[in-house]
Amino acid sequence: MVSFIPVQPQHHRRHRTSCQLTPVRVARPSLLALPHELILKIAQHIVAAPGILPGTSFISAKPSWFGTIAGLANASRDTRDASLRAWFRVFIVREEGDWHAAITLSAVRFSVREIYVCSQAVSPATCPDALLSFPALRSAHINAHNDVSFDPRHGYTYFTLLPLVPRSLKRLAIAHAHAPDAERLQALVNRDGLRLEELRLGRCTLFDCANEGCSYWPAFPHDHDAYFSDDGSVEYAMSIAQDLMPLRSLRTLHLGVYLTPHIALATHQRDHAPFFVNPANSHVVPVNPPLPPLLGNPPPPPHHLHLLAHPHHRAPLHCPSLWASPCSACYEQFGPATKVAEHTACRVLGSALPWIEEVSWAGYFERYGKGVSTWTRSREDWVRT
Ligand SMILES: [Zn+2]
Ligand SMILES: [Zn+2]
Repeated sequence: MVSFIPVQPQHHRRHRTSCQLTPVRVARPSLLALPHELILKIAQHIVAAPGILPGTSFISAKPSWFGTIAGLANASRDTRDASLRAWFRVFIVREEGDWHAAITLSAVRFSVREIYVCSQAVSPATCPDALLSFPALRSAHINAHNDVSFDPRHGYTYFTLLPLVPRSLKRLAIAHAHAPDAERLQALVNRDGLRLEELRLGRCTLFDCANEGCSYWPAFPHDHDAYFSDDGSVEYAMSIAQDLMPLRSLRTLHLGVYLTPHIALATHQRDHAPFFVNPANSHVVPVNPPLPPLLGNPPPPPHHLHLLAHPHHRAPLHCPSLWASPCSACYEQFGPATKVAEHTACRVLGSALPWIEEVSWAGYFERYGKGVSTWTRSREDWVRT
């Protein structure tokens, strides 16, 4: 039974009389007598917020310190300790220096259950075992966009960022990666005692270029079939299944590849996107041959027609305006093939990994190329949800 004892002021009150001020000593103040565990539960309840952190797959939302728990934290040393522990259950690593601050404070290290690592906080220089500093970690979402470096002499070099995870980890999401997944998968299966239940392997794609400030894919304008193709989807699924075989606790898997025919990109660029801006002269040029001109509307100059046939004068694939709206023509032309490829790959994965319940792929037709196409196991087959 918990009893609440009224809090008394800690200073001596002075009561004004008609002729003098007489100090009155009151009983020694009693602080609110609550077990530490209960204060911690109160603090956890206060900081709990509905929903997930924007930009992540499953990290819990985090309200502002001053708007929620600052009052409780200032009540006493005990409530401050409990407040900090509750507050750091969800930890956002915004920049490299945050790692050191978190690791040196035991109240943070041992409290973190969910971590979101922003792209500015992790680079090839980050210690590969930084996540091991959080032994109670359950969920991690890592923006791995800085996993590639460029040197004029050697070109691009890939790095697997934060490959080592604590064995307490249940859910891991990688976002905007350029590096191949093989090294990360190897590190996961080699981790003794790991019982991972959800794994999401997101990649940087041409659809991310505008948001992430990516200079990588614009340097390889013709190599997008590295993550966008229905060719070899069965072989890919078999390979991934082989890699994931030791992770018997895995139930949810996301693979950041598009199982849509690669020709869809060029077809959309050439035939579906109505206009683009020629960066050389900032003229808006129609991609398709123009309709017969109306009276008083002169046809475009002949040299424009010549430019239309030149591949360098098409809008580049990573141009955000190319993908700014849903394309029904793409869906009609490439949707069925995508569905077949995804379904077949799900069946391969599901057969090799019978404990898997949900598989998702990067979705060309969802959220302008930034969504996911999700499939779940239903008895003996897989259905799109
Ligand atoms: Zn990128
Ligand atoms: Zn299209």
